[in-house]
Amino acid sequence: MREHYDVLVAGAGPAGLAAAQAAASHGAHVGLLDAQPRAGGQVWRHDVRLPASRVARQAIDTLQGVELLARHSVVAVESPALRAETPRGSRLLSFGALVLATGARELLLPFSGWTLPGVTGAGGLQALAKQGWPVAGKRVVIAGSGPLLLAAADTLRKHGAQVLGIFEQAPAAAVRAFARQLHRWPARAWQAAGLRLRLASVPYRCGSFVREAVGDGAVRGVAIETPRGVQRVECDLLAAGYGLVPDTELAALLGCVLDEADTHPRVQVDALLRTSVPNVYAAGESCGIGGLAVARIEGAMAGHMAGGDTAAADTLRPQRDRERRFGALLARHFALDPRLRTLADDATLVCRCEDVRLGALAGFDDARAARLATRCGMGACQGRICGTALAELGRFPRGGTRPPVFPARLATLAGHATLSTDDA
Ligand SMILES: Cc1cc2nc3c(=O)[nH]c(=O)nc-3n(C[C@H](O)[C@H](O)[C@H](O)COP(=O)(O)OP(=O)(O)OC[C@H]3O[C@@H](n4cnc5c(N)ncnc54)[C@H](O)[C@@H]3O)c2cc1C
Repeated sequence: MREHYDVLVAGAGPAGLAAAQAAASHGAHVGLLDAQPRAGGQVWRHDVRLPASRVARQAIDTLQGVELLARHSVVAVESPALRAETPRGSRLLSFGALVLATGARELLLPFSGWTLPGVTGAGGLQALAKQGWPVAGKRVVIAGSGPLLLAAADTLRKHGAQVLGIFEQAPAAAVRAFARQLHRWPARAWQAAGLRLRLASVPYRCGSFVREAVGDGAVRGVAIETPRGVQRVECDLLAAGYGLVPDTELAALLGCVLDEADTHPRVQVDALLRTSVPNVYAAGESCGIGGLAVARIEGAMAGHMAGGDTAAADTLRPQRDRERRFGALLARHFALDPRLRTLADDATLVCRCEDVRLGALAGFDDARAARLATRCGMGACQGRICGTALAELGRFPRGGTRPPVFPARLATLAGHATLSTDDA
């Protein structure tokens, strides 16, 4: 059975929440779906210990006239509808207009020891802590690139972790130049100042990156390349993330054109967030990394467009363009050091789901051929981690997207709407 919404929003992060609210304000019957059990996306992910910020509470709790479809993972497109898997079965959801607000994920890069238990992404460890994974008293090294390292450190400390240091790969001069520009976005300048103040006792080292994680059965320490030579630090956890990449799988399945000018594609939209597919709009990080403010503004614009009010969307354009310039600043100043692309050697596992080492990919110049011969990218993450890393390493571009977007039950793929109690 197919259920119909005037406007369906995929992704209940800040962009999706704003889109749903804006579309509902025009009287549309709106469904807002997300794979997660609660709305909020990455930045407003529910924290089992700490209260949500006022802004997050306002966006989530005041949602009106919107049907929240939590624990709905869109796994396939059955044109013109989305197939979503739920804990109780699957649903086929059709729409008059669709807003894609699928966000971004972390870029993880392979290095010796990166698959040891205790090594995660920076946002990944932040998410685990929010979901109740115990980090109190753990000695944590945070490494990688971008402002997310500071946000993760702040959250982890609030959960009782001992953050030994933040190791930013960008050189100090680039980070200082970035900081000097921040006054053009006062809200962000305040946010950054607050973070730096709260993290004043945590060493912040620029031009530094993890060369190797060591341990027997779990990470016990890291070797960090710094401008003054290699520094060794003992730790219980390593959280290493090299920025974010747009999540474009659903857009690709729908046939939306992707902008492939950079290493990692983004959904291509026009000035009013229309994708190349009629009645499909996109907003937030899936259109390029820009942060919370961009996500909220673009979400509202896309929601107005989906609700049929082009004029309301158009009035937000100047604000959106200004916030998008922040994303460009971020990309420029936190560009990755080419040495990061040489950390993995032939013996380094690159596909952690299927245990494929980098050396096994020698001789392949196409992701599909490599996948067929080695199973690289065929595991549970569907190539999200290794495919993105291999693109960053310059091995081959990320391969095409095929359903299911997430691992799914056979019953879902067969289109069965409900599961028997035994299967659920
Ligand atoms: C791990 C991580 C942690 C972050 N932490 C912070 C932070 O602390 N502070 C900060 O300022 N910024 C943080 N960011 C950046 C953050 O992404 C943005 O600031 C903001 O959340 C972007 O909003 P969005 O709505 O575009 O996407 P998101 O917030 O990423 O929301 C996208 C939503 O879409 C859902 N989704 C995607 N695909 C599907 C599908 N197929 N089916 C169903 N649902 C789907 C996801 O579950 C997710 O809830 C983080 C990013 C990541 C990746």
